[in-house]
Amino acid sequence: MRIAIVGAGYAGLAAAWHLRKKHAITVFDGGVGASHVSTGLLHPAPGRKALPTWKAQEGMESALELLEAAGRHTHLRNGIVRFLSGQRQMIPEGVTVFSKLYLAGLKKACSGVVYVQHWVSRLEELADFDQIVLTTGAETLSWASLPLKKTIGQCLVCRCDEPIPVSLLGQGHITPTEEEGICLVGSTYEHTERPDPQKALQLIDQVAQFYPPAKTFRVLDILSGTRISPKVGYKPLMQKIDATTWALTGFGSRGLIYHALFGKWLASCLPI
Ligand SMILES: Cc1cc2nc3c(=O)[nH]c(=O)nc-3n(C[C@H](O)[C@H](O)[C@H](O)COP(=O)(O)OP(=O)(O)OC[C@H]3O[C@@H](n4cnc5c(N)ncnc54)[C@H](O)[C@@H]3O)c2cc1C
Repeated sequence: MRIAIVGAGYAGLAAAWHLRKKHAITVFDGGVGASHVSTGLLHPAPGRKALPTWKAQEGMESALELLEAAGRHTHLRNGIVRFLSGQRQMIPEGVTVFSKLYLAGLKKACSGVVYVQHWVSRLEELADFDQIVLTTGAETLSWASLPLKKTIGQCLVCRCDEPIPVSLLGQGHITPTEEEGICLVGSTYEHTERPDPQKALQLIDQVAQFYPPAKTFRVLDILSGTRISPKVGYKPLMQKIDATTWALTGFGSRGLIYHALFGKWLASCLPI
């Protein structure tokens, strides 16, 4: 079958990876989505309550399979330190993903997949394909009316004098990047039309509560993206929209733990 995937973020590339062996895949993307600004935290208990998330183990295993395929240099598997109610604890399974390297590595690993840099405006443009998969992140609402909501997220790109060898997670978080001396501080949750830079800058005070040296960080840049999540709960949405179109979206702030698992499930739903 000829399958068009619209969107080359975590979800689109995971779908391409799992569909590529049985089908001819073309991935279209004409922009930059949330995956490009993701701060890269992957662990089994995201969310404020720090409880294991639904399908945590399968999600971790599936994500690690893709991360390894994308290359060892795309992530750090050295745990995450969590500060919870004044206690410091290690999440040994925690992984820090260098999102841009991961996306580039996974794209390369998806052998046989054709990539087209193009913004799809109408589904009629894809009439030559047997199936269409919309992995369009926050743009998905322009294709179909689905029970989803948008939340803006910002993070800071900072220079740090002391190296940050492992991700730190409390109220806010600090993650190392592939570049020595540069870390990301995230993330805001904003229910407004546009990102507010003042809110982003407040992240420094927030993380300094559990990591005081953060006060000396120099802010180099502010990145922003839009998450899209279910109106109720947090489980991503995999839905058939019509006879030939699927939507795979609603990953909220749990894109890393669910993208690979849902990519695999989608591949098992499509006709061969
Ligand atoms: C600041 C921030 C920090 C985050 N940190 C984390 C984290 O630490 N861990 C974690 O698990 N998650 C994190 N997230 C959430 C994570 O980024 C998302 O869950 C994930 O990116 C969703 O992936 P996606 O592929 O569904 O969507 P996206 O990454 O948004 O990809 C959608 C793609 O579709 C393309 N597209 C859309 N419409 C069209 C069209 N018509 N034609 C062509 N292309 C189109 C866009 O250009 C885009 O590339 C963070 C999000 C933000 C904003």
